Amino acid sequence: MNKTGTVYLVGAGPGDSGLLTLRGAELLRRASVVIYDRLVNPELLRHAPRTAELISRGKRQEVSQAQLNELMISKARAGNCVVRLKGGDPYIFGRGAEEAEALAEAKIPFEVVPGVSSISAVPNYAGIPLTHRDHCSNFTVFTGHEGDNKTGSSLDFDQLARISGTKVILMGVTHLRELTQALRARGLADQTPVAVVERGTTGGQRSIAGTLGTIEQLAQKQNLQPPAITIIGDVVKLRKHLNWFEARPLFGQRIVVTRAREQAGEFAHRLTEQGAEVLEIPSIKVGLPTQLQHVADVMLELNSYDWLVFTSPNGVATFFDYFFKAFKDMRDLGGARIAAVGPGTAAKLRELHLQVDLMPEEALATKVAAAFKKFETIENLKICLLRAEVANPELPNVLEALGAIVDDIAVYKTVAETDDPAGAGAKLREAGADWLTFTSASTVEHFHKRFDLPALLKKFPQTKLASIGPETSKALAALKIDPTLEAKEHTVEGMLASLLKAARESPRLVR
Ligand code: SAH
Repeated sequence: MNKTGTVYLVGAGPGDSGLLTLRGAELLRRASVVIYDRLVNPELLRHAPRTAELISRGKRQEVSQAQLNELMISKARAGNCVVRLKGGDPYIFGRGAEEAEALAEAKIPFEVVPGVSSISAVPNYAGIPLTHRDHCSNFTVFTGHEGDNKTGSSLDFDQLARISGTKVILMGVTHLRELTQALRARGLADQTPVAVVERGTTGGQRSIAGTLGTIEQLAQKQNLQPPAITIIGDVVKLRKHLNWFEARPLFGQRIVVTRAREQAGEFAHRLTEQGAEVLEIPSIKVGLPTQLQHVADVMLELNSYDWLVFTSPNGVATFFDYFFKAFKDMRDLGGARIAAVGPGTAAKLRELHLQVDLMPEEALATKVAAAFKKFETIENLKICLLRAEVANPELPNVLEALGAIVDDIAVYKTVAETDDPAGAGAKLREAGADWLTFTSASTVEHFHKRFDLPALLKKFPQTKLASIGPETSKALAALKIDPTLEAKEHTVEGMLASLLKAARESPRLVR
């Protein structure tokens, strides 16, 4: 019989994936089953092993609390390490305490990992501190939505209206009218500042500020939806000076990242840091080359080459995966010179402490040839191209035209990625995006196969396109599409710089 596993009730934080605790991340890395709520940022599931069973549990899904408790218990009894991910802090509303009680009763070992609660994090990301020595030194938190099993409200509005300090209302946006009316009727001044923040701490955050008298209408006009938090009190005024999150240059922009999942993370992270809402829709992934034998053959002949030429970071990563499977010592690479097309490829080589002898800036075959020509005569030199299958055929041709002996070795094959655990593809189809970013010709081609790019642009004509460089723009041109911008430097850094520049030049409309 399996040893009973432990259930970890883990606070996932309010939305921003950076607000998970270190303990939470550690447990996710260890989980064999993850049961997560609708409010939890699906990006956090990245921490879990690929083999973990991921079970989503939305409010509207037909899983009762009792069934959910049963599920946790049976998964633990089967010997699993169960992480139950809950929005914010597990013990603040949202029935975490009931789940812990069920585990205690069933004698299942459990641990409860606190999380960053939306109570303080969401106002913060809207520029509102809950306390300030000049304004208030206490705050009150309550829910605007009573549990189903209660008749009438158990909230004492007389007391709530009278108590000083900041008030924070969770789950209140659908009842905003009743709530504000109840407080006004008991004498809370109409001019009291109020803010409502929807999907706080995420790239999709929307917030409005007004007064107790005006907020309900403002919220209606903007059609604010749950999850949202309402903040009442003088501290709301501080937002004028403290709104650090919404002031970020890409705030309010939904940006689609199409590059392979392994590399998407860093770019997505940089965009998020600039305030963007990122939809990760990797359209390609790296697969095995059809002729794996060719790679094995090359490994035995590395010493015979004068040049090893890498044309993409993926080429570097996959080549060295094979290399280190075959050899233990970097010296087995031999004495060939190394060329890297583009700064991203060069950076990947430098991570391995390999010096790049030649770095043509652009992947265009003629530019690569010109760079070689300038460096040395390559007549009769042996060159090994280590790149993707079905890569641009011009490159070996122009090098051969210069007299080189070229081996064109496919170290990987770009294949379509269709896995989409966070449902980002559906969101794009439904809501569109401000920017689509393409980082290679193959991201364009595979994205188009999945979404029909011209049709998508027709449905969402405001969508702008960013291309990393000329090869990628060519792939767009083949679909009769002009990118809105092409990065000056053909790296994701360069692309980010161009996106920031575009944002500066056309400041977004205040929502
Ligand atoms: N345990 C959670 C709260 C669960 S109750 C916590 O500690 O944060 C769910 C309510 O929390 C929502 O209805 C909303 O009022 C609030 N909430 C949670 N995440 C939010 C977010 N990102 N933005 C705004 N409100 C949020």
